[in-house]
Amino acid sequence: MRWGSLMIAKRKGQGAARGKARDGVAPIGTRPSRPKPRYCIVCGTKLRPIREHGVRRMACPRCGFIAYRNPVPACGVIVMRSGEVLLAKRAHEPRRGSWGIPAGFMEYGEHPERTAVREAKEETGLIVRLSGLFGVYAGRDDPRTRAVLILYRAKIVRGRLKAGDDASEVGFFALDRLPKPIAFRAHREALGDLRRMERRKSR
Ligand SMILES: [Zn+2]
Repeated sequence: MRWGSLMIAKRKGQGAARGKARDGVAPIGTRPSRPKPRYCIVCGTKLRPIREHGVRRMACPRCGFIAYRNPVPACGVIVMRSGEVLLAKRAHEPRRGSWGIPAGFMEYGEHPERTAVREAKEETGLIVRLSGLFGVYAGRDDPRTRAVLILYRAKIVRGRLKAGDDASEVGFFALDRLPKPIAFRAHREALGDLRRMERRKSR
């Protein structure tokens, strides 16, 4: 499945970095603090700091391995039903008990679209079909890592709504009556964009 540059152009500007959440929910504000690796995962030698293209990285003086710190991609789905959006309550830390768009981290070698469909099924019990790219957001406040949140629009194909895996509750919510708190800033930004889009559509 591919979406052309038209879709990208149409979506440009959405999901851009913003200074603060616009839905009135204050950011929870835990700084990402993934521990820095100290030893080489290839040969076990103690890593030493180097500078590469002006960026400080930890590298192995013996085998040359460089421990890059890159954001981790996460994928999820925007599913609407009768004007309401599908959300899942987090069953585990971080942000246990807060709500989010069904989404999760990509497995190595997995296609982002597959991640999105898999996470929807695991968390909500619903089999969905993706219908287009919704937006891409920077994840800055997940304490585990910096992330890139890729969200697709999706439609329900079949399945019964049932919380599973990382979710303790699932449900559809009116965009002006979302449950609180929403777990991550990227999710709040996406829901803000969704609300603006739906408002524009209903005018
Ligand atoms: Zn090494």
